[in-house]
Amino acid sequence: MTNSNAESAEVTTSESRPSNFLQDIIAEDVRTKRFGDAIVQTRFPPEPNGYLHIGHAKAIFLDFGLAAEFGGKTNLRFDDTNPQKEETEYVESIKTDVHWLGFEWDKLCYASDYFGQLYEWALQLVKNGKAYVDDLSADEIRKHRGTLTEPGTNSPYRDRAIEESLDLFQRMKSGEFPDGSRVLRAKIDMASPNLNMRDPVMYRILHATHHRTGDAWCIYPMYDFAHGQSDSIERVTHSMCTLEFTDHQPLYKWFIAQLGIFPSQQIEFDRLNLTYTLLSKRKLLQLVQENRVNGWDDPRMPTLSGLRRRGFTPEAIRAFCGAIGASRTNGTTDVEMLEHFQRDDLNHRARRAMAVLHPLKLVIDNYPEGKEETVEVANNPEDPSAGTRQVPFSRELYIEHDDFREVPPPKYYRLSPGKEVRLRNAYFVTAKSVVKDAQGNVVEVHCTYDPASRGGNSPDGRKVKSTIHWVSAAHAISAEIRLYDKLFTKTDPNDFPEGGDIFDNLNPNSLEVLTDAKLEPSLASAKLENRFQFERVGYFCLDPDSGADKLIFNRTLALKDSWAKIEKKAGG
Ligand code: ATP
Ligand code: MG
Repeated sequence: MTNSNAESAEVTTSESRPSNFLQDIIAEDVRTKRFGDAIVQTRFPPEPNGYLHIGHAKAIFLDFGLAAEFGGKTNLRFDDTNPQKEETEYVESIKTDVHWLGFEWDKLCYASDYFGQLYEWALQLVKNGKAYVDDLSADEIRKHRGTLTEPGTNSPYRDRAIEESLDLFQRMKSGEFPDGSRVLRAKIDMASPNLNMRDPVMYRILHATHHRTGDAWCIYPMYDFAHGQSDSIERVTHSMCTLEFTDHQPLYKWFIAQLGIFPSQQIEFDRLNLTYTLLSKRKLLQLVQENRVNGWDDPRMPTLSGLRRRGFTPEAIRAFCGAIGASRTNGTTDVEMLEHFQRDDLNHRARRAMAVLHPLKLVIDNYPEGKEETVEVANNPEDPSAGTRQVPFSRELYIEHDDFREVPPPKYYRLSPGKEVRLRNAYFVTAKSVVKDAQGNVVEVHCTYDPASRGGNSPDGRKVKSTIHWVSAAHAISAEIRLYDKLFTKTDPNDFPEGGDIFDNLNPNSLEVLTDAKLEPSLASAKLENRFQFERVGYFCLDPDSGADKLIFNRTLALKDSWAKIEKKAGG
């Protein structure tokens, strides 16, 4: 069992203390009645082009959490303005994930519900001389755009008559023109230092079927002409989004001001970045499409569905989100911090069980043949109310291969010839001899036990330096165990040499499947929602691939393994 992860919660960002700047802004707006008597209204606006990931959990936590804190409401709004990449499957998964995280939206909205209103508003801007139809190609528009240091140049169509733009825009809508032949642009300022203000495109022609509006539309609004207006329609007071939208804020305000509609306020916060983790739906989609992982809910994925399948809990994810807070500068958080919150949660809730991942037979020579007994074991030492259970014990057991060494290295206190250890909750045993296969591998260990040490303590006060777990061979159930490690080998998966790609950083050993683990019999009745700590091994949960005849457990996280560290340091 390796556990290469650091064990403590260490945070790399100095900004990672929960910051109150979003709370402060909202509190001040409430105090000054900036939005009159309107309640605090927020929204979570995912584009349904993939499954939600842990970065979205941060946004959800802020959108829903802050609104609730001020007695407000949060809408779930699908930003479905791009018919080519969006699917109903994603809409459904997003709803499931938001609920799973523990949040309830007020209204369920779709930007596509507003296509009619957005079109009316676009007409209004054309009529007011604030928007025009441009016949330039996308390429030409790009060339006219200028750079950060050079102003752009006006399109030759910029000053065409309002009537002409109006006519062309209506014909764009009615389907007269092919994709890409014309766009509707806002008429702002081609010399603006902010590139987003250089006559941004508002509508494009796209003869594509939309997941909700079907073929009703062949022109679609751009994000910038949909997002702020959707906020305004829903009377969103605080529209929180990530920092990359900061440069879009002037445009967000410009459209709202030109249209004279409800003045929603955009506020930006830092995107969650996690070490060793890819947080981009586009790239995660690539992992799925190229079969680098087994679907969006592969337990190695940072998606909420992947984390859920892996055994992460909404409580832990919320606690993590609360701890990272929000700030105004981007940073990177150690993935170990997320794991720390998960371990902490599981340590309190997980039922203990004994499971042997790499079985080695242990035979107690002086234990009567055919005898069986049960030992009473606490279900969770952290929680006495979880009760106890009876675990069968007999003459032949399985122990972990790694808990026996024929020639023990220094500081190795587990079983070795002549050494005595405690079998957890059961007896003291002393190793006597081994049986080897033709290759010289130890396949069986013989020992003797001290019947007076029942329960795990010797009446003469004798101490042992180690306690190991075990499963009675006759009673054990077999299971498949899936061990997960980091999906990427680099702290920043995007760090690859020129000519390479992100997949060069994939960890070839991120999944290890053990096909014949031995589990205590109580685990036969495990349910998907149960969380277990396999003693000394890690946290586990049942995988949905399990069937009546085949149990499969996922390792959520390893426990801290100080031995692995010592061995590593020693160069082992
Ligand atoms: P991705 O690049 O993964 O597709 P996105 O920003 O395009 O992310 P959206 O569906 O547009 O994804 O995101 C919905 C909301 O979630 C937005 O408000 C966005 O700012 C927020 N969000 C997305 N990724 C993160 C992240 N890593 N940390 C915090 N918030 C995020
Ligand atoms: Mg996006």
